[in-house]
Amino acid sequence: MSATIINGAKIAETVKAEVAADVKRLQEQRIQPGLAVVLVGADAASSSYVDMKARTCQKLGITSRKVILPESITTPELVEEVRRLNEDDGIDGILIQLPLPKHIAKHEVLEMVDPRKDVDGFHSHNLGSLLLGHETLVACTPSGVMEMMRRSGVEIQGANAVVLGRSDDVGKPQAVLLMHANATVTICHSKTRHLADITRQADIVVAAMGRTAMLTREYIKPGAVVMDVGTNKVADSATVERLFGKDESRWQDFNKRGYIWVGDVDERAVMPVASFLTQVPGGVGPMTIAMLMSNTIKAACMRRGLAC
Ligand code: NAP
Repeated sequence: MSATIINGAKIAETVKAEVAADVKRLQEQRIQPGLAVVLVGADAASSSYVDMKARTCQKLGITSRKVILPESITTPELVEEVRRLNEDDGIDGILIQLPLPKHIAKHEVLEMVDPRKDVDGFHSHNLGSLLLGHETLVACTPSGVMEMMRRSGVEIQGANAVVLGRSDDVGKPQAVLLMHANATVTICHSKTRHLADITRQADIVVAAMGRTAMLTREYIKPGAVVMDVGTNKVADSATVERLFGKDESRWQDFNKRGYIWVGDVDERAVMPVASFLTQVPGGVGPMTIAMLMSNTIKAACMRRGLAC
């Protein structure tokens, strides 16, 4: 047996085409959706993520505004910037690019975002609504994972699902979404004992730990669905060789950039036992951006009391 690859990049293109059609419908009603992305400092990786989001907005007809602020900004100054965006009627979604510099009180800033514009779904109001099962803005990565499974015909209802990781932005909302979809959910973390014994019971495994290729064949029940959220930078050739052998496309990437992105799942080891598998790159990552676009439209509609 060899797992069917759930192609996140392809599903993301479909979601984005749907978003573009929604944008047209809104524009016909004289509504121009807009997303503001706030970047503090000049971190190269964060800056390239912000550019990628801005480019995607442009392609889909969403107005994008990059708010680039100096590393030296204080928490009150940043809160003030967010307040201005909250009051700006041309902005439907506000995203604070993480990580923020260490001196910034991250939670104070995230809690300042108007929950109706919180397209990342990180505000306690939206996390609370998610827990209660109310229609709300939900974090992009876990909702992307759900969308990928639904569109691939994965049966979630009644499944034993194990979520590896309990972060506020991935693990916790993922577990809640799976529970609402009628899975029986177990959440594991770094203190979990006998992890493989637990994951081997799972029909669905969502790995969001940030541990390079940690999930090997022993962790996976034959026929399980394996969704790999992990994004780990691997810059040593010995690890590339161990994980991917002579795989040409991996080596091309490695030789071009000096590193490759690897998930939390040992892809080659798990492929023969899983029924469905996502890959890194090209899996959950592209869906996260697509869901951000989708959330921006949802925010634009919800804020105006429109059904989208
Ligand atoms: P995080 O905040 O660092 O949380 C990691 C979680 O994994 C924690 O709950 C931690 O447990 C748990 N964990 C760590 N080592 C473990 C182990 N050996 N066994 C079991 N659990 C373990 O990370 P995050 O923000 O949730 O992100 C997780 C991964 O997803 C990262 O690689 C990140 O880059 C990636 N990510 C990808 C996307 C995307 O779009 N593709 C988006 C977001 C995140 P404790 O709570 O006990 O510390």
